[in-house]
Amino acid sequence: MPAVTVLGLEGSANKVGAGLVRDGRVLSNPRRTFVPAPGQGFLPGQTARHHRGCVLAVLREALQEAGLEPADVDCVAYTKGPGMGAPLVTVAVVARTLAQLWNKPLLGVNHCVGHIEMGRLITGAQNPTVLYVSGGNTQVIAYSERRYRIFGETIDIAVGNCLDRFARVLKEVAHKMLASGECTPEDLCFSLQETLFAMLVEITERAMAHCGSQEALVVGGVGCNMRLQEMMRIMCAERGAKLFATDERFCIDNGAMIAQAGWEMFRTGQVTQLEDSWITQRYRTDEVEVTWRD
Ligand code: MG
Repeated sequence: MPAVTVLGLEGSANKVGAGLVRDGRVLSNPRRTFVPAPGQGFLPGQTARHHRGCVLAVLREALQEAGLEPADVDCVAYTKGPGMGAPLVTVAVVARTLAQLWNKPLLGVNHCVGHIEMGRLITGAQNPTVLYVSGGNTQVIAYSERRYRIFGETIDIAVGNCLDRFARVLKEVAHKMLASGECTPEDLCFSLQETLFAMLVEITERAMAHCGSQEALVVGGVGCNMRLQEMMRIMCAERGAKLFATDERFCIDNGAMIAQAGWEMFRTGQVTQLEDSWITQRYRTDEVEVTWRD
């Protein structure tokens, strides 16, 4: 079979990335991050403006670094969702335009599935129970019968956003415990993080026990957190399982993860017609038919 090269474009939150993947090799994966003023979160409009301003430069960089021309690309994959509306639309418009300009098939990719497939590629985990933790998503996932099934999730607030927002709120209120000197802001941050991570590790362990799984994979931006990885590693060791984790190049949102999931989809015959190439802010992990796994 000839080599299949997929361009992946990601922009569902504050990162905009373009990655090129060819048959399991990451050829390039540049990205830019929108950084708002200290103490502020990133808002959809501002973030989309940032992405519009640099998406073409990131794309050019990805092609140059990989030493490829548009003609070498077999498929243009983009993040269909979940994520923030305006940034998602920005990247989808670029993907649609490239697909038409270059006359290539287009593929809308689920962002969470991108994280899972990138994690599997980089770590070599075969059939892991996945803890996906980021600013926008918190899910415990395991594969069964052509779906990535969600065993646990937060719907109100994701763990990364919770930690960030707590730090901002701490600056605004002077809580009784802080005012009396009973504890410091650092104490509260530490306690919150320990409690949240302990909950995540416990739910992951329950899912592993349920599935009889001997592998755990942690993905998403919060998955870079060394304390979380340590707690996960202890849990895995205690049950004779193995922990797989990646570093910030692949944990944090990037274009190559969309390219990798796109590559799996494309080689099993999936494409997205132009008229179906919309975005959706809510796109559940278990909506995707996993045609590339048994
Ligand atoms: Mg993410």
